[in-house]
Amino acid sequence: MKVIPPAIYNLIKEFNKLPGIGHKTSERFVFYLLKQPAREIENLAQRLRELKNSVKTCHSCFTYTEKAECEICQDISRDHQIICVVAEPRDVISLEKTAQFNGIYHVLGGLINHPEGIGPEQIRLAELLKRVEKNNIKEIIIATNPTMEGEATALHIAKLLAEKPLIKITKIARGLPIGGDIEFADEVTLGNALQARQKM
Ligand SMILES: [Zn+2]
Repeated sequence: MKVIPPAIYNLIKEFNKLPGIGHKTSERFVFYLLKQPAREIENLAQRLRELKNSVKTCHSCFTYTEKAECEICQDISRDHQIICVVAEPRDVISLEKTAQFNGIYHVLGGLINHPEGIGPEQIRLAELLKRVEKNNIKEIIIATNPTMEGEATALHIAKLLAEKPLIKITKIARGLPIGGDIEFADEVTLGNALQARQKM
């Protein structure tokens, strides 16, 4: 690729690493950026730096926030006795968009996936147990994706909490397409799945 200046080639390679971005799209990004004024590029670089410098995880629920504790955990008008368990911070955003949930969240940071070497210890299950024991939790809603990993994780959580009979354990209904991600479900479908949650 000697005809392409390294600065162009290297940035194409970087964009190409992003999910869903192929080589052609990466090229389009780079050639578009080359035509932009320097201040626009500086602005983009600044936003990228900010991302890692200012975003941290909430010390209670582990979703992304710029504070020690996220806005949802700080909100006293929400029901702090209902925890909705999700795999990733972006699932919190999807569920919030439904405007059907007024409890708080727990972000696992992944799902049990034995072939990939992710066991129960690699996700935030110990932290979930600690929260359940420390606070007076009355319901745990499991909102993992309807995939093999999502189901395995849901079952594992149900087993972990089975000895705590005071807690109701529910799972969001499968209005979601099989194998479909929470991330891609529309608000109405996801809202209905939450409303029609079933006891495990
Ligand atoms: Zn939080």
